[in-house]
Amino acid sequence: MPPFTPHISSMHPQTHAFALDTDANPLLEDWGGRFGVPAFDRIKPEHFRAAFARAFAAHAAEVAAIAGNAAAPTFANTIAALEASGEALTRTVNVFNLLAGAHNNDEILAIEREVAPVKAKHWDSIHMDAALFGRIERLHRTRDQLALSVEERRVLERYYLKFVRAGAALNAAAKARLAEINARLATLGTTFSQNVLADEQRYTLVLDGEEDLAGLPDFVRAAARATAEERGFPGKHVITTSRSSIEPFLQFSARRDLREKAFRAWIARGDGGGATDNKPIIAEMVALRAERARLLGYPSFAHYRLDDTMAKTPEAVRSLLDRVWAPARRRASADRDALQTLLQAEGKNFPLAAWDWRYYAEKLRKLRCDIDETAIKPYLQLEHIIEAAFYTANRLFGLTFEPRADVPVWHPEVRVWEVRDAQGRHRGLFFGDYFARPSKHSGAWMTTLRDQEKLRGEIHPLVINVMNFSKGRAGEPTLLSFDDAKTLFHEFGHALHGLLSDVTYPLVAGTSVLKDWSELPSQLYEHWLERPELLRRFARHYRTGEPIPEDQLRRLVAARTFNQGQATVEYVASALIDLDIHLQSETDEAFDVAGFEQAALARIGMPAEIVMRHRPVHFQHIFAGSGYAAAYYSYLWSEVLDADAFAAFEEAGDVFDRETAKKLHDHVYAAGGARDPAELYTAFRRRLPTPDGLLKRRGLSEAATPTPE
Ligand SMILES: [Zn+2]
Repeated sequence: MPPFTPHISSMHPQTHAFALDTDANPLLEDWGGRFGVPAFDRIKPEHFRAAFARAFAAHAAEVAAIAGNAAAPTFANTIAALEASGEALTRTVNVFNLLAGAHNNDEILAIEREVAPVKAKHWDSIHMDAALFGRIERLHRTRDQLALSVEERRVLERYYLKFVRAGAALNAAAKARLAEINARLATLGTTFSQNVLADEQRYTLVLDGEEDLAGLPDFVRAAARATAEERGFPGKHVITTSRSSIEPFLQFSARRDLREKAFRAWIARGDGGGATDNKPIIAEMVALRAERARLLGYPSFAHYRLDDTMAKTPEAVRSLLDRVWAPARRRASADRDALQTLLQAEGKNFPLAAWDWRYYAEKLRKLRCDIDETAIKPYLQLEHIIEAAFYTANRLFGLTFEPRADVPVWHPEVRVWEVRDAQGRHRGLFFGDYFARPSKHSGAWMTTLRDQEKLRGEIHPLVINVMNFSKGRAGEPTLLSFDDAKTLFHEFGHALHGLLSDVTYPLVAGTSVLKDWSELPSQLYEHWLERPELLRRFARHYRTGEPIPEDQLRRLVAARTFNQGQATVEYVASALIDLDIHLQSETDEAFDVAGFEQAALARIGMPAEIVMRHRPVHFQHIFAGSGYAAAYYSYLWSEVLDADAFAAFEEAGDVFDRETAKKLHDHVYAAGGARDPAELYTAFRRRLPTPDGLLKRRGLSEAATPTPE
């Protein structure tokens, strides 16, 4: 998953009355200390109200001073001044978002709902401030005469675009309507995400006795026992709709009835018809987004959204998705036939259903690739995979990671490392929050408590990875699936994008880049996990310490393209529906989401045995805020880039090739958004890529398709 952007929140000025005394509020203290980490041990939910109130007022005053400056606009007194403003707000928002995503409770969730529209309003009043926009516009118009650095010019251009895209150039009536829409969308996005969370918290499949556990290997049982403990069913086993709980269950449970039950609950999140049903929320959001796009002069929200990406247009996105869809679907239907044959060979006679796919795919994988998850898992300890991620960062970029026990954290399970570069200089802190718990949103993401910058001094980043791994039994190490391990590498790639960032201005620091560029550093990093030289070193049996046997290793790497038809189909279907939903020029609150979903799936010929990776009703990427709205294709777009980027190392004959790593560092991981991504990529690789590498990597190119069709 992407850097998770929960609803950024703020606070009602009216609630000033609740403000606590400054002395008692750790959020309002100076977080000087050694690393500038807030005192999590003393932060209580109620502190946020006061902190938000203060931070908002302070930021509004700073911006008013910039807008009202009597001096003619300069880059320094306008753009740099804006960049330096709002420090307390950024800090408060970052801490709040972290807790709302990774360790929330009813009070945090209530504050999240309360402040989401206020935050939207705060930013609208800044983006629609005519005096402020006048200054930015004048600078933008005369940018060629300003003697700006490359980064400064980019920051100015991004500011201008940001304001225009937020409605700064509209008339008063349109601005007022836009502000209304934004506030409402903020509330709806928060409700959407809280509904999904509520459905996930509510659902448990309690497994009682050996019969219910049929087929489940030890590691799945152990994780289910730990979950049962946590959910208040001691001595039993519990499966939840968290991906790391339900996917292994679907993969191994021999109980078809229980698979169906759990699967149906999983895909029904946000679709329950009750108070947490997201269909009316989606209808309203889609209508409001389309209206916003129209106000800003675009035919649809997708046109508006994509205008500020590498892809630029819906046509470019569809062309990539279509290119991948056809071969993926062909491959998936060949796999479906193979799975059907397999289940019939077992003497069963039902048609393969969506809740059977993972179960029979696991069996087929054993047959075809001679490999199974239970045999691999004992070699993939969480501890060793973390070490492998650090080792890779050391070999590529010279980074070292030293554990620290003296840094405040938000939950006792959170771990902290100090990051230093090859010269031994402090580069930031890395926080790992690895285990699933009810107070955490599902999924995996990277976020920050503080971004790198040099504007207000040499500021080092505080970077966080949040995962939802099922914890091993007490006294036993946590074992990962290969997919889990890839997720860890993925999010760590995002973390490096934050940690290695080397820019001056916060606006373009770290992961603040165009959406379809943002998954390059993360997806690229996954490639190293698949390398035999890395697995030989870190994939060691948790009991014996023996390295993974060579033949098993070879099969594991070779199995990479197995079941990629299904994986690609479930992803691309979600991306196509995201695009289609947001291409509508006009809808209203009666918009029939379910009907639209069905029709769209029929149109693309979605195989009946595969369900979208994210159905609209729980598609947090696109409805819990607008992060990936009309932009879920970004993973595939970035994959075109990462497949080609890793090939640079293969061509160099060494996956840790120093010269290639240096270029990768300078033009990708350290560059943030300080330059145009197409320019950055060209500087790294001397050209832009085609999708061929991506198709080959997924085993979907003609030459790579193993099964005759
Ligand atoms: Zn990501």
